[in-house]
Amino acid sequence: MIFKKQPHLFILKGCGIFYFLIFFLAGCSQGLSVKETRILMDTFCEISCYSPDRDKAVRAVGEAFKEMQRIEKVFSKFDENSEVSKINKIAGLENIKVSGEAFRLTERSIYYSRISDGAFDVTVAPLMEIWGFVRKHKSMPDKDDIENALKSVGYKNIELDSKKLSIRFLNKDTKIDFGGIAKGYAVDRAKDVLVSNGIKNGLVNLGGNIFALGNAPGKKNWKIGVQDPRKKGKLLYSFELTDRAISTSGNYERFFEIGGKRYSHIINPLTGEPCQGIISVTVALDSAEGADALSTAIFVMGEKKRPYFGKIYQRHKDSDT
Ligand code: AMP
Ligand code: MG
Repeated sequence: MIFKKQPHLFILKGCGIFYFLIFFLAGCSQGLSVKETRILMDTFCEISCYSPDRDKAVRAVGEAFKEMQRIEKVFSKFDENSEVSKINKIAGLENIKVSGEAFRLTERSIYYSRISDGAFDVTVAPLMEIWGFVRKHKSMPDKDDIENALKSVGYKNIELDSKKLSIRFLNKDTKIDFGGIAKGYAVDRAKDVLVSNGIKNGLVNLGGNIFALGNAPGKKNWKIGVQDPRKKGKLLYSFELTDRAISTSGNYERFFEIGGKRYSHIINPLTGEPCQGIISVTVALDSAEGADALSTAIFVMGEKKRPYFGKIYQRHKDSDT
């Protein structure tokens, strides 16, 4: 097993069963705090706020959760009434007018595809289906099924009309899946809601997609630790974040097993196969959306493309890094 390290980008390579956890190292018991945890987007969501005005913090946390629930309704692939489900039903046949929000997230997803040479790709949905992530099944797909699904996969199959705010898929079987970016997007929007409610310090954590707003009480920043998946309780690295986000993509929490072998839920859109070899990738950036998309992309790209990571990092780097 190899551990590779770069500025604000960490890749763990190897195989086996590992336990991973991100945890906060400071500030949880200081100041006037409000902390609430709910289940959202199929994972745990925790929002913490620190403010001298407790009522304001309670209101802010409630509104931030409301915003995330709204986003889940728009982007859920499991809800057949979501906007994404409607797009998937219609856009392969004809143009569909969509909300500005769905249009812009699609546009930005295509941007992340371009800068990762197609490693991140929201059109991975047909592959997620045949590998059994949508309707769970326990058999390997045929090579022919994979080849067939691959014909409809590829971000270049998405045609956008920014004047009409419409989407059209150039292949009738193309479908989109925002699973690799929607959590980060929701975290950014929740953080915006906290800020618009006058909150200066807080944390939003949706399944390892974290935005650290301001600083921990009495500290200069938020210190967020990444636990070593090889050694429970041991810290691998800690990030000192202020108004920045962190996201981890891993294969130890979401995966499926066929014949005793683990398959990751992150699929290489170029080969149609689940990615293997890397345990987790953690990315820190100025937005949770960017960190989410790029941690998924880098999980696919693997360490062979390490020179490329610098390029991605460069494009997203904050002025202070
Ligand atoms: P994450 O946990 O953020 O790395 O995202 C994984 C989720 O993104 C999966 O459950 C799929 O819904 C979706 N996904 C899988 N492979 C890809 C890919 N290559 N590009 C974009 N999204 C993907
Ligand atoms: Mg992601």
